Amino acid sequence: MEYEVVIGLEVHVQLNTKTKIFCSCPTSFGERENLNTCPVCLGLPGALPVMNREAVKKAVLFGRAINAKINKRSIFARKNYFYPDLPKGYQISQFEIPIVENGELFIEVDGEEKRIGITRAHLEEDAGKNIHREGYSVVDLNRAGTPLLEIVSEPDLRSSDEAIAYLKKLHAIVRYLDISDANMQEGSFRVDANVSVRPKGQKEFGTRVEIKNINSFKFIKQALEYEIERHIDAYEDGTYQEEVVQETRLFNSRTGETRSMRGKEESADYRYFPDPDLLPLEVPEEFFSLPIPELPDEKRRRFMEEYKLKPYDAGVLTAEPELAQFYEEVVGAGVDPQMANSYLSVELLGRLNKKNIPITESPISAQKLAQVIKRVADKTISGAGAKKVLDKLMEEPQLEVDEAIEKLGLKQISDPAVIEEMVEEVLEKNGDKVEQYRNGKTKLFGYFVGQVMKASRGKANPQLVNQILKTKLDG
Ligand code: ADP
Ligand code: MG
Ligand code: ZN
Repeated sequence: MEYEVVIGLEVHVQLNTKTKIFCSCPTSFGERENLNTCPVCLGLPGALPVMNREAVKKAVLFGRAINAKINKRSIFARKNYFYPDLPKGYQISQFEIPIVENGELFIEVDGEEKRIGITRAHLEEDAGKNIHREGYSVVDLNRAGTPLLEIVSEPDLRSSDEAIAYLKKLHAIVRYLDISDANMQEGSFRVDANVSVRPKGQKEFGTRVEIKNINSFKFIKQALEYEIERHIDAYEDGTYQEEVVQETRLFNSRTGETRSMRGKEESADYRYFPDPDLLPLEVPEEFFSLPIPELPDEKRRRFMEEYKLKPYDAGVLTAEPELAQFYEEVVGAGVDPQMANSYLSVELLGRLNKKNIPITESPISAQKLAQVIKRVADKTISGAGAKKVLDKLMEEPQLEVDEAIEKLGLKQISDPAVIEEMVEEVLEKNGDKVEQYRNGKTKLFGYFVGQVMKASRGKANPQLVNQILKTKLDG
């Protein structure tokens, strides 16, 4: 039996406004508990919400970036449920008319573009946080009222890889638009994954389960894979009806398993109704003409054309706006685009990833990386030498590139006269081998190169050594 996987994703993106969505408390992260609060976000009786204009602007930018319909008039609703981190007893959200509807984004599947529909994106407020201690819990309401954009996809994704490609693209888009820092560890980009499996050919979807709040791409993939296997096993064992029920599950990153958290609530359970404290939201006209920055897909295409990069390389370099900018600074300093790509994507990123340093905090600036590449291009140092220079600069960021080259003693010998002298010395010492070489044992060429390199303690420019040896031996 063959099966088909169906996935739809809900992503909560924390908008990076300075203040909360319905009050003027700051949204700063990591403050003392309950410092960023006021009567509105504490849910005190009589306090009234006032819509944050910046949050609306960011939602509209997002909608326009995904070719969506922007509703000029949308409605805030109360979503009622009880939980200690929700002091009002309801969350202000959007239900019937969200601000953004019917959008799309494109992912690459087996080298082809695939369109993924985005059903809706709506504005809502975040809840606070319950902190569980031994024997009791406390509530921190600093996060309560932080603006969220909840982005809901169509069930268009057909594998965990497609789900990750979608999330990475969405992540890039919100970062490019600068509407969220989308920091997954800090919870500014939270994913709920809905997944079902059906026998291939069956029209109706299978039963969906929702896996809540997974905070890394790696864990999302693991959680989906685990769930997909569980569903397929249940089909195979004939226990699908009992085993797979519509519910919310939690992923445990230590065991790599999911477990049931609660039955799935239906929207009727929330007793949605329009919030009488807020007027319908009307989008200001000027938000429709705000400039949209170059987005990841466009930038990738431009990199392929302008810098002749391969699709994969262009994709890596444009995954984050800061990385793309870094690359363009290196190229802008007058470096060959292919060299810039390999030194940035392989050498620098490799070193940064090992130490978990983001590109924005790279100890080696774009200017310095460009300088290292120029020293390779003008043959001052070899490719192997460049790697040592990069290691040194990672450790001692205050060093200039030429100082590092000097300190490491890596300067290549590129003076032809000096190399010629070394070549002659080597040939004199090896008269017998020169004889053999001239009698047809041309394999010996490598031996001579090695000897000259050794004599120069590895510093002779290898291309020059080759050239000069060739003329001396053959010419
Ligand atoms: P809720 O708020 O109850 O979770 P939504 O309709 O807002 O419901 O979101 C449902 C999400 O689940 C959407 O992303 C949708 O694409 C996805 N989905 C719906 N049905 C299925 C299914 N059978 N299998 C997988 N995903 C599904
Ligand atoms: Mg849901
Ligand atoms: Zn407040």
